[in-house]
Amino acid sequence: MADTLKQITCPACGKEMEKVFIPSEGINLDICTQGCGGIYFDNREFDKFDEKNEDISVILEKLDGKNFTKPSENLTRICPNCGSKMVKNHSSILKEVQVDDCYNCGGKFLDNSELVKIREEYDNNEQRDEDILRYLYQQVGQELAEQERAYAERPQEKTYIRKLFNKLTGL
Ligand SMILES: [Zn+2]
Ligand SMILES: [Zn+2]
Repeated sequence: MADTLKQITCPACGKEMEKVFIPSEGINLDICTQGCGGIYFDNREFDKFDEKNEDISVILEKLDGKNFTKPSENLTRICPNCGSKMVKNHSSILKEVQVDDCYNCGGKFLDNSELVKIREEYDNNEQRDEDILRYLYQQVGQELAEQERAYAERPQEKTYIRKLFNKLTGL
């Protein structure tokens, strides 16, 4: 989606956000340099900065040495791009960082220092995905094992299910 060129206000503290040009990506990010230090990413922009090997020096320079206000975490935030309510999500299975997502336009808002924390969670997105898969497998794998155990304790049920299955499949 296109880079937002309009001036937007910070969804966390209401101050005007500063357009910061990132030469390596050729895009503008909106950073709350006058208020809370939060960063707003347009749809898909976040993918360009969430891995450790991706360059965020321009962002860090903008944030370095400033005292930022601490906005309330509990208020529902409104997407500064499209006006929809943003939804709080954990950035990963580790549940260490909570971000605000806009499901309407794909925008994402990170509080000050959250970007650095997210980048510290995993070395790259492959590892992040692996962790999710491992987590899902643990959940489902346990359930399957429990079902097996239950059937083993009630063999007649297993027979019944097998009969039913055979009936349904016409065998
Ligand atoms: Zn702010
Ligand atoms: Zn939006």
